Amino acid sequence: MHAILYVLSAVFVGGCNRDKAAAASPDPQSSATPATVAKTVHPAGPELHVDPARAFQYAKEIVAFGPRWDGSKGQQRMGEYIQGKLKGDQVEEDAFVADTPAGRIPMRNIVAKFPGSRDGIIVLGSHIDTNYPLRNTSFVGANDGASTTGLLLAIADQIRGKKLEGYSIWLAFLDGEESIPSDTPGDMRWVSDQALYGSRHLAGKWAQDGTAKKIKAFILADMIGDKDLDIQRDNVSTPWLEDLILQAATKLGYQSYFFAQTLPGLEDDHVPFARAGIPVADMIDINYGYNNSFHHTTQDTLDKISPKSLQIAGDVILETIRLVNAGGEVQSTKQ
Ligand SMILES: [Zn+2]
Repeated sequence: MHAILYVLSAVFVGGCNRDKAAAASPDPQSSATPATVAKTVHPAGPELHVDPARAFQYAKEIVAFGPRWDGSKGQQRMGEYIQGKLKGDQVEEDAFVADTPAGRIPMRNIVAKFPGSRDGIIVLGSHIDTNYPLRNTSFVGANDGASTTGLLLAIADQIRGKKLEGYSIWLAFLDGEESIPSDTPGDMRWVSDQALYGSRHLAGKWAQDGTAKKIKAFILADMIGDKDLDIQRDNVSTPWLEDLILQAATKLGYQSYFFAQTLPGLEDDHVPFARAGIPVADMIDINYGYNNSFHHTTQDTLDKISPKSLQIAGDVILETIRLVNAGGEVQSTKQ
């Protein structure tokens, strides 16, 4: 599954004016240079690492469910699987029925909450659906959906039972990311208001109930299981948060995997949360296979992802959390 779509700015000019991304002009920066000059922040709390073999194993088990488009048996099993892995954790389901061009489809986000010692929340997200227009194919979304969902479950394993010294960490397993533009199989169009169903629903709920104000950072992971890892910066994401990600990557020696390119007008699950006023960052690799040739094709299989990439992304996320806990936002935006 995957979730992204990235729409070039030229498309936006066509009149997608409801989209925040559409209003954003392309970032002239095309290098790893931070958009803001962040001071070095000293991480807070103990260093944590994901177990990459475990993250990969979870992705493998998820892929074994087969296609997991909304409304499918695979997607139902996926929900049960996530609930099973989070047994004993504080878990909430955000169930709703999405009005789509293919009809009304039941969906649900799953949110696991791990309480911290400070008032405030850091949310990590991944989408759990696979591409809907490819539902009649063997598309299993090893990278596009499974890899990041497996990674979030592996992160849960690292933080479960620990006394979190900083903000609470919530893991958001987001449904309905992929576009459902019509009921026609193979209709691969990305339509802004016919996608991101789960993130739009959850962000709307959190904006209404006051949760959004408590969220210090929302970090989305998407397609970062790619063996040939190349994570892009995008101009919807919040500059100070991406600066912290780069700082975390640099500390861990992984900076060469980050931000060689900046994407304009990226639409992904981070966008609805950005609209709710939450600082967001999308850790995404939309360059999957030569010329992105594996993306949204039946070639998105387990052999194209690696434990190493999951380790890089996971450890950078966990290190970024320490930087946010250390007040990275304040120091970065003071410049
Ligand atoms: Zn996708």
